[in-house]
Amino acid sequence: MLDTLPPQSPDALLALIKLYAADERSDKIDLGVGVYRTNEGETPVFAAIKQAEAKLVAEQNSKSYLGPEGDLGFVHALMPYIFGKDATKGGRIEGMQTPGGTGAVRLAVAVAQKAGVTAVHMGVPSWPNHAQILNDIGLETRTFGHSHDDGTAHLDNVLGAIRTAQAGEAVLLHGCCHNPTGIDYTNDQWDQISAAFADSPALPILDSAYQGLGQGMEEDAYGVRTVLSAVPEALVAYSCDKNFGMYRDRVGALYVMAQNADALPPILSNLNALARASWSMPPDHGAAAVRLILRDDDMTQIWLEELAAMRTRMRDVRGQLAAAGDVGTLDLRPLGQQHGLFSVLPLSKDQIQALRDDHAIYMAGSGRINIAGLHVGNIEKFIGALEVVTAQ
Ligand code: PMP
Repeated sequence: MLDTLPPQSPDALLALIKLYAADERSDKIDLGVGVYRTNEGETPVFAAIKQAEAKLVAEQNSKSYLGPEGDLGFVHALMPYIFGKDATKGGRIEGMQTPGGTGAVRLAVAVAQKAGVTAVHMGVPSWPNHAQILNDIGLETRTFGHSHDDGTAHLDNVLGAIRTAQAGEAVLLHGCCHNPTGIDYTNDQWDQISAAFADSPALPILDSAYQGLGQGMEEDAYGVRTVLSAVPEALVAYSCDKNFGMYRDRVGALYVMAQNADALPPILSNLNALARASWSMPPDHGAAAVRLILRDDDMTQIWLEELAAMRTRMRDVRGQLAAAGDVGTLDLRPLGQQHGLFSVLPLSKDQIQALRDDHAIYMAGSGRINIAGLHVGNIEKFIGALEVVTAQ
């Protein structure tokens, strides 16, 4: 039976990684893969994580099962960072650990479906896995354009989606550092989005995978906090894989805000049942390390400084690109106003191919670039290459 399965198209980014690895040109530039890189092109383990891991090895005395909700100490330690001072909203918010932000998004969509959601509105372009998860779980995807050509968010589109959404529908939004465009809503726009949600029966699903990589831990939480203050219930998918550099350790959490504290336990029991039937329990190591950091003031300080250094570096790169202004037919100025790891350049397929063939510059076919793939040693070459391929 298995040989009747139709082959699926390979993941384009994974294919790009292989092509990049096989390229022998010494000045090649990888702007494809979605991980942070230092000025030296490395993706090191955070010093705070190294300390926490050492502590974990020394102190952990059992690897016995924890349960589908994972490490609740981790889940709770993150909450003040995500939700602010009244982190539980009077006992209305609770969470569970998931295998990365991907597991959190999947669990959010699955529980929404169980609660009667049949369609999800989302801006496009988006992280490709959003549509793949919705499709796999069997929810209808309704899309709207996320941004204007000038590199700003298309507020009317998102407000329209929220206002027209019916009961039984959800709206999925990126919390910050939009992937792939880097185009976030301003605080004023979040206020309007939250007001629209307040008058809509739609369930907000917020995906926060990059808190702290945009403008700051507090600043990047504005959207999530503002929406949650306006609605009776919401789901928040969270990833620590970027802001703690834990990618392969799969550190994430799903939070649910219920109408009232009494409504939480049945929802959580559904989340538990869904988790049990899929991954059973999340991997412990990364979440335990994050918990140790967040429960220790010194380690927390080290982590926040490392995160700030990442953020500053990416903002510097954005500043340099924006300062280049008009490059060939491109205007790089909007990149200075965008946030996080990614931005999209309006390049044609041929231009993206020419960047790869003639200049050893690798980027996704969508024109998405990883800002952290650029540094003092290669940014001039990149800007020069853009000038050449857009002039052709
Ligand atoms: N949501 C978005 C928007 C993302 O970009 C990512 C990471 N690429 C995730 C969720 C999930 O991240 P992870 O599963 O690696 O924690």
